[in-house]
Amino acid sequence: MNQQRHQALASYPAQSEEKSQEAVLRSERFGQSVFNEDRMRRYLTGEAFNSVKEASYSGSKIDRKIADQVAEGMKAWAMTMGATHYTHWFQPLTGSTAEKHDAFFDLLPDGRGIEKFGGSQLVQQEPDASSFPSGGIRNTFEARGYTAWDPTSPAFIYGKTLCIPTVFVSYTGEALDNKAPLLRALNAVDVAATAVARYFDKNVNKVIATLGWEQEYFLVDNALARTRPDLILAGRTLLGQAAAKGQQLDDHYFGVIPQRAFQFMRDLEQECMLLGIPVKTRHNEVAPNQFELAPVFEEANLAVDHNLLLMDVMDKVGGRHGLMVLFHEKPFSGINGSGKHNNWSLSTDTGTNLLSPGSTPMKNLQFLTFFITTIMAVNRYEELLRSSIASASNDHRLGANEAPPAIFSIFIGTQLTGVLDELEGVSKGRLSPEEKTELKLNVVGKIPEILMDNTDRNRTSPFAFTGNKFEMRGVGSKTNCAKPMTVLNTIMARQLEEFKAEVDSLIEKKKLRKDEAIFNVLREYIKASKRIRFDGDGYSGEWKKEAAKRKLSNNINTPQALKVLTTPDTLELFGSMGVMTETEIRARHEVELETYSLNVQIEGRVMGELVYNYVIPAVVDYQNQLLQNVSGLKEVFGAAHKKMGAAQLDIIQSLSTHLQELQTKTDAMIEARKQANTITGAPEKARAYCETVLPFFEEIRYHSDRLERLVGDAHWPLAKYRELLFLK
Ligand code: ADP
Ligand code: MG
Repeated sequence: MNQQRHQALASYPAQSEEKSQEAVLRSERFGQSVFNEDRMRRYLTGEAFNSVKEASYSGSKIDRKIADQVAEGMKAWAMTMGATHYTHWFQPLTGSTAEKHDAFFDLLPDGRGIEKFGGSQLVQQEPDASSFPSGGIRNTFEARGYTAWDPTSPAFIYGKTLCIPTVFVSYTGEALDNKAPLLRALNAVDVAATAVARYFDKNVNKVIATLGWEQEYFLVDNALARTRPDLILAGRTLLGQAAAKGQQLDDHYFGVIPQRAFQFMRDLEQECMLLGIPVKTRHNEVAPNQFELAPVFEEANLAVDHNLLLMDVMDKVGGRHGLMVLFHEKPFSGINGSGKHNNWSLSTDTGTNLLSPGSTPMKNLQFLTFFITTIMAVNRYEELLRSSIASASNDHRLGANEAPPAIFSIFIGTQLTGVLDELEGVSKGRLSPEEKTELKLNVVGKIPEILMDNTDRNRTSPFAFTGNKFEMRGVGSKTNCAKPMTVLNTIMARQLEEFKAEVDSLIEKKKLRKDEAIFNVLREYIKASKRIRFDGDGYSGEWKKEAAKRKLSNNINTPQALKVLTTPDTLELFGSMGVMTETEIRARHEVELETYSLNVQIEGRVMGELVYNYVIPAVVDYQNQLLQNVSGLKEVFGAAHKKMGAAQLDIIQSLSTHLQELQTKTDAMIEARKQANTITGAPEKARAYCETVLPFFEEIRYHSDRLERLVGDAHWPLAKYRELLFLK
């Protein structure tokens, strides 16, 4: 075996018996590193406590004097926990999180040192914004941006640092991050959904969006992964012959968790508990070395923060276990990639899940209202929703028969389809008493029973109703959930606002009773949104054709999917809902496109390096060995060498053929990349990378993987799939 690979394999950490038994109950450990309500009560004055509570409930501003008190309490608590630094923790448009640590320490004029952390440091910071993507919002001469405290997500201690969740905005107030638009969208949906929920319950004063994500990931041995520049730099394997065994035996899914992975998970869960991330479920996924982790759902903004924090914790805990955690949507060819289902619903401050049917006809009408409005919103803005999960890495997965297609559709199951069909038949305007009774008893009244045994599930649907929530399945495993959640909650807010206006108008102008008006609007929504409903096989070719007939978008790559971001419809939607200004949207569009181009560019460079510095030298080495053998045979056996060395000569030929193709394709790819790089417009550049550079990757890979099959194992420098994929 090749020496480098051999060393990496040999450094597999020995399997140690599990040492740390969980002495402390999870519930006791939970949230110990979080400045939660309990701790706020202990460390804050009553006035400061109420002010923070009010701010997190209604978004009210915190007075400067109060902020000083909060900072004082936070610092006191953080220091008892051993924290020495604090940071504003934010989500720049790079998709991950950023932090800049400052010590609590400060100098007094007389030279003495003190521990300092005041209200101004808590509330606002000015990190140099110039190195974060801004899509042109920030001129170079106005590089300043600032981070501002988000009191709806509690501060926490990570390592020895007090982390304060913040939004990141430019000096002129535009969002430079993913959190600010999300908070605005959550506010919009709160306002719109509260108004509608009050048709059914006057006690409702607030509606929150809930999010339960399910994070899929791969684990690979770190030492082995480090033999591969593609895993290190691109997060996925660009080359690699499939292992003889993949996922065809279905023996990994829900199987016994490998010991090494299990130890990693235990350690990870302990960390998550301290940080208040309510992780609950862990299991093997379909592909070898693929796993999933899911928490209990939470308020959407907090859930997003927790997912981002989790990815960071996973990385660190992985390091301790000699593991590399792969979040890429398609790290290995030939086996499933990873996603991050987003389970979403709306919930009132009276404790009602608005997408859950209830025990009374009124509750069920409420359920139908929110259920059908969601369908209507998704139908109208399907293309925009698709754009929110577009990325270079997710392009490899969507539509590849392991994840939903790039076409958005909604699965609701046969029983609920039946209910909607009946509602569609409701007469226009006034309802007769008989019709009302029939509706109440036989349609609306039966919903809870129907849902009880609604077990049919459709795994191929990108947006499925699963009993008391919708599940958005196309979200990429690396994606910041803030992006799809911003769009989903914005379009929902828009639809609910319109719904309310339509119902109110029927009540006022047509003098309909409230429930009649609601039925009337719902009936129209059911009719108008039919094309988005699809219960069949989303992976099939027929669906593609059918979807095209229904005029549903099918944007199979990122440059195409992002186009919708700058249409007048999108600009109007985000603008009027107060979620993003035109400047902010255009900036995002630009950043997403640039990120796409840069990702393909990096992969192209890594590909070139792999081919020229790894594959070609390995092939030449091996070919030399064969040639030496053939000339040795000739020396000893004379003319007989032709027969004796036939196999070797054959392999030498094949190696040369693939080597030639490999080099030709690689050079052509490099040329295409150089061309693409000269293009200045972001959309045109992204399209060039997508259409002229990317297609070479598959061809290059084909020849390299053929060569991997031919070349002696001892000559191959890159860790192989079979070595990477089967943790014990
Ligand atoms: P799966 O999709 O793997 O079959 P489940 O349907 O059991 O899983 O649930 C998936 C996720 O749905 C869980 O992580 C849970 O937190 C989340 N979930 C449940 N109820 C809600 C809700 N009301 N809002 C948001 N997420 C929810
Ligand atoms: Mg799921």
